[in-house]
Amino acid sequence: IIEKVSKHRNEKAYLVGGIVRDLILNIKNLDIDIVIEGDAIAFAKELNVFLNIKKIITHEKFKTAIIFLETGLNIDLASSRLEYYEYPTSLPTVSYSSIDKDLYRRDFTINAMALEIDYNNFGKLIDYYNGYYDLINKKIKILHNLSFIEDPTRIIRAIRFASRYNFDIESDTEKFLIQAVNDGFLNKISFDRLKNEIIKILKDKNPHKALNLFEKFNIFEKFNLNIIITPSTYNIFKKVLENKDEIIKNNVKPWQILLITLFRRLNSEDLKTIFHRFGFKNKFIRKISIGINERKIIVEKLKTANKNSKIYFLLNNIPLEIIYLIKYSYPEIENKINLYLNQLQNIVPIINGKILLKNGYTESKKIKNIIKHALELQLDNENYTIKEILKELHE
Ligand code: ATP
Repeated sequence: IIEKVSKHRNEKAYLVGGIVRDLILNIKNLDIDIVIEGDAIAFAKELNVFLNIKKIITHEKFKTAIIFLETGLNIDLASSRLEYYEYPTSLPTVSYSSIDKDLYRRDFTINAMALEIDYNNFGKLIDYYNGYYDLINKKIKILHNLSFIEDPTRIIRAIRFASRYNFDIESDTEKFLIQAVNDGFLNKISFDRLKNEIIKILKDKNPHKALNLFEKFNIFEKFNLNIIITPSTYNIFKKVLENKDEIIKNNVKPWQILLITLFRRLNSEDLKTIFHRFGFKNKFIRKISIGINERKIIVEKLKTANKNSKIYFLLNNIPLEIIYLIKYSYPEIENKINLYLNQLQNIVPIINGKILLKNGYTESKKIKNIIKHALELQLDNENYTIKEILKELHE
C-alpha cells in the first residue's frame, strides 16, 4: 500500500533505522519508522484511504505523522530530514532533502540503513555507511568523529546497543567515546533522555555487558553520584534476570529492582530527587528510601526471626522491590524471604474489624491491636479457627 501511494505521489518511501537493523538480524521489532522524500503528512493522509486507520497525529512544524492502525500497530512517518529556515518576517520555509542526508544524522552505522519501499526497487537496501558489514561483524560504529559531541546521548546508546546485541564498540568509536566522557559531555544529556536510555537498558534481556561498559568508561563517576558497580551488583542483576517470571507474577517490574540496585548506595536526598525524576510516586519513594536505609537492620533481625509472625511483621511494610533486593543480596536469609513471598504475604486474616464489632469490641485502638495479635496467632498456627483465636484472645 505504501508502495502504491509512493507511486501515486511520486515521492519515495523508505523503511529506516532500528527496524531495518532488526529485520537483518531476524529479531522482532514492531517500531515501524518510515521516511518519505517529500511531505510525510500528505502521504499519511493518503494512506488513510487504503488502511484501517484509527487515528492520525500530525506535527506540522516537523512534518511528521503517526498513524494508529486498528490492529494496534503504529507507523511513524517523517519527511526526510528537512532543511528548516525561519525568517522573522516570513513564514517558515521547508525544503525536503534526500534519504542520504536523513541517514547521515543518525547515531551508528547499524542504525543508518534504509529499505526502499518503492515501485522500482522494492526492498533494496540503502547502506551508505556500511551498516550491513558492521552488523555482520558485530560492531557499533559512529558515522563521523564529532558524533558523540553532537549528541552525547549516543554515549549511552552505544553502550545500550553493544550490550543488547553483545557487539563490540569499534576501536575509533571507543576512542571518541572515551574522549567525550573525559571532556564532560555526559553532563550535557538531558535527564529525560538519560532516563529513557537507562530504562531501556534495564529492560533489555541481558544488561550485564552494559554494567561492564559503565564501569569501563567510568560513566557514573562523571555524574557525581555515589553509584558503585560491585561484584554484588552483578550478582543481584544475574539473580533478578534469572527469576524475571516469578518477579513479574508478584506484580513487580524487574527493571525497577535493577534501578534500585544501582542506586542503593545513594544518600536519601539524592535517592529521592532521582526517583522523583524517574517518575515514581512520592509514597513509593518514601517506602523505598526507608527500605534501603533499614535493610541491614531488617536482615539482622530476619536472621534470628524464629516465627512466621516475626518474619511477616519485619517485611509487610517493605516494598517488594526492596524485599527482592534483600533476597538476592543475602542468600543466608533467602529461605525466610521465600516463605514470606510464597506463603505469608498471601495469608488473609480470619479476624477482621467486622467480626470483632459483632463480638462486642468497640474501641478502635483495641480492635487494631487485636487484629494484629490475631494475625500473629494465625501466622504461627496455621490451623486456628476464628473461635479458637477469639477464645485465646479472651484468655
Ligand atoms: P529500539 O529497538 O531500542 O527502539 P531503535 O534503534 O529503534 O532501537 P530508537 O531510540 O527508537 O531506537 O531510535 C530509532 C532510530 O532513530 C535509530 O535507529 C536511529 O537511527 C535514530 N536515532 C535515535 N536516537 C538517535 C540519536 N540520539 N542520534 C542519532 N540518531 C538517533
